Amino acid sequence: MIRYNHFIDGKSTVPSSGRWFDTDNPYRGKPWASVAEGNLDDVDHAVTAAQNALESEQWAGMTASERGLLLYRIADVLEGHASRLAELETRDNGKLVAEMRAQTAYLPAWYRYYGGLADKVEGTVPPIDKAGFFTYTRREPVGVVAILTPWNSPLMLLSWKLAPALAAGCTVVAKPSEFTSASTVRMAELFSEAGLPNGVFNVVTGLGQDVGEPLVNHPGISKVSFTGSEATGSKIGEAAGRDFKHVALELGGKSPNIVFADADLPSAVNGVVAGIFAASGQTCIAGSRLLVQEEIHDKLLAEVVQLASTARMGDPLDATTQVGPITTRPQYAKVLQYIEIAQGEGAQVALGGGPALRPECGDGWFVEPTILSGVDNQMRIAQEEVFGPVLAVIPFRDEEEAIRLANDSRHGLGAGVWTRDLGRAIRVSHQIRSGTVWVNTYRALSYLAPFGGFKASGLGRENGIAAINDYLETKTVWVNT
Ligand code: NAD
Repeated sequence: MIRYNHFIDGKSTVPSSGRWFDTDNPYRGKPWASVAEGNLDDVDHAVTAAQNALESEQWAGMTASERGLLLYRIADVLEGHASRLAELETRDNGKLVAEMRAQTAYLPAWYRYYGGLADKVEGTVPPIDKAGFFTYTRREPVGVVAILTPWNSPLMLLSWKLAPALAAGCTVVAKPSEFTSASTVRMAELFSEAGLPNGVFNVVTGLGQDVGEPLVNHPGISKVSFTGSEATGSKIGEAAGRDFKHVALELGGKSPNIVFADADLPSAVNGVVAGIFAASGQTCIAGSRLLVQEEIHDKLLAEVVQLASTARMGDPLDATTQVGPITTRPQYAKVLQYIEIAQGEGAQVALGGGPALRPECGDGWFVEPTILSGVDNQMRIAQEEVFGPVLAVIPFRDEEEAIRLANDSRHGLGAGVWTRDLGRAIRVSHQIRSGTVWVNTYRALSYLAPFGGFKASGLGRENGIAAINDYLETKTVWVNT
């Protein structure tokens, strides 16, 4: 079995515990590789390497333009390895190889975009209101950044943080999910081969409690950038607040996909099905609540059920598969439990409703695409993130009720609005409390467009020009002339 070590200070590094743990292939339902079991000593080693690199001639001594060019080189190397990285991710997280290929092929754009921004970060000279002073500001890297990522899109979510952090001149210690560590370790090796100086990007693998917690609490860390669950995000926010560390949190969602009676139905049906069932529902922006206007409820439900029922399930490495397995065994159990809870609350199963026991699903952790009708927005199935292929269908009367139901959630990450009425599209988009609203589309993302959550979906925004500011401190220098 392949073994993945930590990557610290430019070197593949065996864990100080002397132990590795298994990482599973969700399609086969069994281990395919082993990963270093990290602990506090490994975290300490990596943070020290990152602190040294932060001050080093090789990194701090680079001009911003040189850093930008290095990010371009990294982008080129990533491009050359995109397909293999996608296969690695699919083996580890079970997501469709076609989707992972699209994702990894898009990653270089983040390194080019932030590489281009590296030498456009400028200080200011305020027109100061006191005689005898020359006053100016400098933008300095915030320091060593801890990046903690979940299992659903390891390299994409890492790159949203890593590219602006490196462009700003920070150094990084990353801790990938214990379920999907391999691709992050491989990426660190590739960046090193591309010429990133030792210690600038380190990876320590292991469990949240053994590696994540000590990393977040480490005094050498200046900023924590986290993507993951609300429960972990809340602990990290508390810890960062206690130590006055910068913190960014990208958390979960319960996003409404709102279909008005005047919508273009075929597009809406496609958008609703892809909105929830892509990646077997394991995306933070999954459109897991379908809010549908009463007049078209039965027709839309029938068409969504029809389209979802044709999904080809099976081996995620097969490019024709449309729905793959659930990434982890505990998540598989959680999704099935939520379907039971919903039925106990009175929801009716319009499609699916249990494990997929089809021959093409092998021994993998597959759940049938599940559609639940008769859902009330107060039910747990409408309020809690399932992170699986489960769609809750909720009818509404008019625009006012649609907005009220959409906002009746502790989350606020994404929302879809399907209508042909431009005025309504804009009115509704402005009243929904979420970080992104898609009109007559769903799930579009770009390095150019800010992304993040309102309410319990998080703090801060990634992507776009402003994201680089989160990795910079502003220093004001007063000179008595
Ligand atoms: P998780 O919170 O369990 O784990 C995320 C990371 O935090 C992992 O690396 C984990 O090891 C680490 N961790 C766990 N406990 C920790 C602790 N006490 N201290 C420090 N680190 C700790 O999340 P997950 O189950 O891997 O991912 C699924 C969640 O991620 C879902 O809620 C999903 O909505 C969210 N997500 C959000 C976005 C977004 O951009 N908003 C994107 C993808 C996923």
